[in-house]
Amino acid sequence: MNLQPKTDNTQPGKVDLRDMSLSELSGWASSLSLESFRARQIFRWLWRSDVTSFDQMTDLQKELRQRLSELYYISSLRPEKIERSQDGTKKFLFALSDGNHIESVLIPEKGHYTLCLSSQAGCAMGCRFCLTGKGGFKRNLKTSEIVNQVLAVQGALPDEKLSRPSASGGNEASPSAPERDAAPGGLTNLVFMGMGEPLANYENLIKSLQILLADEGCGFSSRRVTVSTCGLVPQMEKLGRDITVNLAISLHAPDNETRNFLMPINRTYPLEVLIEACRRFPLPQRRMITFEYLLISGVNDSPEQARALAKLLRDVRAKINLIPFNAYPGSEFKPPPPERVLAFQQILIKNHYTTMIRQSKGADISAACGQLHAHVVYGSQRGEEVV
Ligand code: SF4
Repeated sequence: MNLQPKTDNTQPGKVDLRDMSLSELSGWASSLSLESFRARQIFRWLWRSDVTSFDQMTDLQKELRQRLSELYYISSLRPEKIERSQDGTKKFLFALSDGNHIESVLIPEKGHYTLCLSSQAGCAMGCRFCLTGKGGFKRNLKTSEIVNQVLAVQGALPDEKLSRPSASGGNEASPSAPERDAAPGGLTNLVFMGMGEPLANYENLIKSLQILLADEGCGFSSRRVTVSTCGLVPQMEKLGRDITVNLAISLHAPDNETRNFLMPINRTYPLEVLIEACRRFPLPQRRMITFEYLLISGVNDSPEQARALAKLLRDVRAKINLIPFNAYPGSEFKPPPPERVLAFQQILIKNHYTTMIRQSKGADISAACGQLHAHVVYGSQRGEEVV
């Protein structure tokens, strides 16, 4: 069943308040000579109470609400379709106001949920194994479109007991991040591994992270938010200076020749430059950089390549996720047999790396790593639609 596509209600001549960070809202409030607490009050209504109209901001004077509604609007996203995988993963398709589509993936884990967010409609990076890249680049997502994915998923599945901001908003004290982390079954983890290269949409990414991490905003813990990059080194260094979140690198090869073949970005920032930037990346104590390594049969899965990977990451605080490739219709690659995956892992473990084999979830609904394409390429074929 298709849901009513009800997305961002763009209003000409007005500004979407959900594109504003708390500091931008504060600047706006002071330019209008409003009391300094007003910006926080409005910010909390936007992100902790998920309001869709100014009339719902009941602790603001009527005159101020009227003024706000003349200049601003509040956007929202509603899923056009939700598909459920046999393993419990759910894929959300969103139609944006300009007709582009994006997807987000909700992954059940032990005791919590992880939401995989999109940062762009399409992607320009052209990684050879990735279905998103094959659809080409459409545009960067706005800050509102990034964070609204979180609110939309929380709102669409109330029965899942996804933790969400306090509904009362206003002056009520915010629950602390640890309290929310303890909520069983809650949405506690976010990963920027959906459609797009997040660091190629840097400004809107940072603003969305500020909203997601703010106590008055969505209140996620920085320990539970991960930004993944294919290796945009200058933006990666800037990220380390601007905000504290976890970093994941889509590595997928231990040498430049193989990585050039798989990922065009490697021709601009080759492995020696990328890995040196990883060594310098400012990590909080006891945190590591996650290196994602898609194992592709006959391309990057040999024992020699495992040893080269161990050597490459020497002196980097690294943990490694091995992900057997998810074949999709028309893909030129195949996953290696399981024994080859295990042999690759054993070499890394012997070299003292924490190395997990990750079976991508949601492969039967094209929600697994590198399979997101918002139905642009192949259309919806599989999976049970829910809601
Ligand atoms: S793997 Fe990531 S960076 Fe590469 S094309 Fe796909 S979405 Fe873009």
